[in-house]
Amino acid sequence: MDPRGFPTSLPEFQRVFPDDAACAKYLEAMRWPTGFTCPKCSLPGEPYRFPSRSSIVLRCRDCKANASLTAGTVMQSSHTPLSTWFWGAYLVTTQTPGQSALQFQRQLGLSRYETAFQILHKLRAGMVRPERDKIGGKYPVEVDECYVGGRTRGEGRGVHYKATVVGAVEVRPRTEDGKKHKRSVYAGRLRLRVVSEMPTIEEKLVNPRLSGREAEILTTFVTDTVEPGSIVRTDGWGGYGDLVKFGYDHDSLVLGGDPDKAEKHLPMIHLIFSNLKAWIQGTHHGVSQQHLQAYLNEYVFRFNRRFYPMTAFNSVLGLAAHAVPPTYAQLYSGDWEHPV
Ligand SMILES: [Zn+2]
Repeated sequence: MDPRGFPTSLPEFQRVFPDDAACAKYLEAMRWPTGFTCPKCSLPGEPYRFPSRSSIVLRCRDCKANASLTAGTVMQSSHTPLSTWFWGAYLVTTQTPGQSALQFQRQLGLSRYETAFQILHKLRAGMVRPERDKIGGKYPVEVDECYVGGRTRGEGRGVHYKATVVGAVEVRPRTEDGKKHKRSVYAGRLRLRVVSEMPTIEEKLVNPRLSGREAEILTTFVTDTVEPGSIVRTDGWGGYGDLVKFGYDHDSLVLGGDPDKAEKHLPMIHLIFSNLKAWIQGTHHGVSQQHLQAYLNEYVFRFNRRFYPMTAFNSVLGLAAHAVPPTYAQLYSGDWEHPV
């Protein structure tokens, strides 16, 4: 388990959340970190609990109003057991990125495909909101574009859509923990955007000055996502020529057509692009251009929270972000009590 007690494997997760009662206990702790307070009459105090182990309702002992543990969450009014939702949230945020509904149905042992599809859809909805704050600042940022193949199956031979994706990622030093690592840097926050068709690397070589509309699109992406003043690393194509004008410290590689040089200059973003393509092709067998941005947002959501699985888990379930819950360890060792 990680320091805050979040399960790092599926068996561990099942031990922490073995049944609906365990999930209900967690929801209660999230919603009322300092102990139950009646949402209707605001009276604090231990509520009436229904004997059924799967009950998600607490009743105020004073005014007799019922409070649902799932109110305001993605699970509200659902007939699916809490444990299924919890499993689903765990799977989509950590274990197996971008599960297909069929894999998901099998892993959760759900009898209906539609149920799996609906759950997945609702959980994913919490991942596709674009992240608005700007990255960079004291960290250098690598920026580059790649082509992501679209869906081709069933649309005839030779029909092949490709979309250009532009990405920006922070390069952070690995100094905090004092341990020795293979690399001295790691990838920080990521941003990805679908942009209209851009020239290929070959076209860039033929016409390195090609800019105009393309340059405007790429510059807008950088000004939207990266803090002014940041070091921005790009290849040497003219598409990024305006960055200095917008207050960036532009670290541009002279484009010599040497892939090794580009690899050394932009290692992080290239690695992210290759993983992104593998995910889109491998798990989803291509994505239509219309839905590509939503998939990119999902990828970014998971990538940016890969060190904070608990945040991602709570977020997709729609649990309040402000509440500081007890750790799982506290919950399940019995050490944690509602403060009175
Ligand atoms: Zn009450």
